[in-house]
Amino acid sequence: MKKLISIIVPCYNEEPALKPFYEEVNKVSHEMSNVDFEFVFVDDGSRDGTMREIEKLRANDERVKFVSFSRNFGKEAALLAGLDYAQGDYIATMDADLQDPPALLPAMYDVVKTGDYDCVATRRVSREGEPPIRSFFARMFYRLINKMSKIEMVDGARDYRLMTRQMVDAIISMREYNRYSKGLFSFVGFKTKWIEYKNVQRVAGETHWSFWKLFVYAIDGICAFSTVPLVIAAVLGLIFCLVAFVLIVTIVIKTLLYGDPVSGWPSTICMILMMGGLQLLALGIIGEYLAKTYLETKHRPIYIVKRTEKDK
Ligand code: UDP
Ligand code: MG
Repeated sequence: MKKLISIIVPCYNEEPALKPFYEEVNKVSHEMSNVDFEFVFVDDGSRDGTMREIEKLRANDERVKFVSFSRNFGKEAALLAGLDYAQGDYIATMDADLQDPPALLPAMYDVVKTGDYDCVATRRVSREGEPPIRSFFARMFYRLINKMSKIEMVDGARDYRLMTRQMVDAIISMREYNRYSKGLFSFVGFKTKWIEYKNVQRVAGETHWSFWKLFVYAIDGICAFSTVPLVIAAVLGLIFCLVAFVLIVTIVIKTLLYGDPVSGWPSTICMILMMGGLQLLALGIIGEYLAKTYLETKHRPIYIVKRTEKDK
């Protein structure tokens, strides 16, 4: 029996990119005649003609399947929906903008089919075409999160990977609401081989990530896979208690020896401001975790499907 590879493609306003994407992957799929392919396009509440474009592809190719959301739920939700929906023995996740070269697929398949590896993942080794300031913060983020979390996050890792059914089943068994895929892929373990390639620019359209969105995503990632920030608050508190104790003792001794009990008003104000600031910071960190816990406990669906190719 021929094995089936599912290609999962989250799409948010990707109308111009879909056709070139499909053609490229289709070409590769014909080169790999020893396996069958299915496409799972996940329309993440696009506002442009993405859905129309997918229907057009579907009209000419039975292998094209789709899941259409009731609104935009974000790329993480779209990825999960694709993984839930895919039928394949092997499952690949790819962006719609051809930043993940389909030409790598045959080599990736060769690696997983031997059974030595459960997953082939890709990372880009250059960040060409990206604003330098963004690359700088991205590097800082990976250094930070790898120090704070036991789960390893690979710098430059893309969400372009080919996984076995077994690994995908492990990933979709995790139904957490705050999803940070890079961490989840790493959390489930299994043997992963990394393939490196140079950054490729989008074929059409624009990136959906503003600097602010990336910043929020970074905080999400840290909260989801590390509780170190909570410990930082406790450690800071301990340090400041010790400092305060030493200061109190010095001041008492100084006052007993020299008198002068009321000097040092400016330093008092500085201390009050600093302590107030630190307390708010610690509260903020706790609040961040509390908010995440609150969202998890509501058990809201991670995505809502409006339509698939089975509904007419
Ligand atoms: N995407 C999505 N939902 C969103 C944002 C993005 O499904 O809310 C998809 C998008 O269509 C693309 C992929 O996620 O296929 C990666 O997005 P993008 O290319 O903007 O990210 P970048 O490559 O710049 O990191
Ligand atoms: Mg992209």
